[in-house]
Amino acid sequence: MSVEKKSMSFNLNQLVRENVKSMTPYSSARDDYVSDGSEKIFLDANENPNENGVNRYPDPQQRSLKATLATIKGVQQDCILLGNGSDEVLDLLFRAFCEPSKDNVITVPPTYGMYSVLASLNNIENRKVLLTPSFALNVKAVLDAIDANTKIILLCSPNNPTGNCIPKDQIKELLDHFHGLVVIDEAYIDFSTEESWLGELSNYKNLVITQTLSKAYGMAAIRLGSCFASKEIIQILNKIKPPYNVNELTQIKAKERLQRKNEVAQEVATIIEERKKLEIALKTIPLVQHIYPSEANFLLIVVDDANSRYKQLLDKGIIVRNRSEQPLCQNTLRFTVGTPAENSSLIKALKELI
Ligand SMILES: *Cc1c(COP(=O)(O)O)cnc(C)c1O
Repeated sequence: MSVEKKSMSFNLNQLVRENVKSMTPYSSARDDYVSDGSEKIFLDANENPNENGVNRYPDPQQRSLKATLATIKGVQQDCILLGNGSDEVLDLLFRAFCEPSKDNVITVPPTYGMYSVLASLNNIENRKVLLTPSFALNVKAVLDAIDANTKIILLCSPNNPTGNCIPKDQIKELLDHFHGLVVIDEAYIDFSTEESWLGELSNYKNLVITQTLSKAYGMAAIRLGSCFASKEIIQILNKIKPPYNVNELTQIKAKERLQRKNEVAQEVATIIEERKKLEIALKTIPLVQHIYPSEANFLLIVVDDANSRYKQLLDKGIIVRNRSEQPLCQNTLRFTVGTPAENSSLIKALKELI
């Protein structure tokens, strides 16, 4: 890394795209008037006045849901942005900070496929710095890949599909030396023994964390993703988000689920137990050549011939993820941990394969 890069410091104003800086955000009826909860006559948003539970526009700032989330996560409400899944949140990050056909992001494959899809969609160069064959982060290579137009480094910990976490000191090195945003996708954090990065938010102005209700919280269908960052970063994302990006049904369901966090913790504990059992059972199956350690709710395994094993399992009505086309993932399958009965069926099916 050049001396010049080291001497630069984090400057959010320089990271934001010019058009985002200068634009005026859409101001919705529900932004103009914030309800204080008292009885009012709402004639401002051209809604159908007949109450049916969803005839009114939802709160564009999802205040009630954010208040619940803020308490559970121990972060300030103005450090949270919610989106239609973390996929939308990640897209907003690209659109706020990356200038098409000029800027670049760094990703570290094999990792979550959406990062490169979002880079392509937004016409942003994706500088891919492969993990090592044992799926460790090559910090030096990442630092070397940074140039003046690098806006975001996208990390996923625990990583999908490899299942491992990136060590804290490595991420700290990136946070310290890179003056763009370091995004840590914590979709699987609830399954991990590693701590979330949420506790470090106030220590790093360039840290962005994303989480989701799609995995541990069991709500993939309602589409709720969250982004945690400094309130300055959140303000910028708020400015460009679609006004009603989180619908009312989702806000209600998410809040209910967050309030039953003991139930979620119980389900997570069971899934982790099942992951351990599945790992032990898989070790006894000859076609399984390697099982990578996992801090998530899936196992990445190496088999003798992933393409044919994938098809054979499909014929038995079991759908797994074939990750063989991913770099460093030759002949791998990814098994999501299911119910005890589903996992038994998987093991039984694998034993029957020849
Ligand atoms: C599943 C997954 C998500 C979830 O995305 P949503 O849009 O919130 O459902 C995010 N990141 C990773 C790495 C995932 O595997």
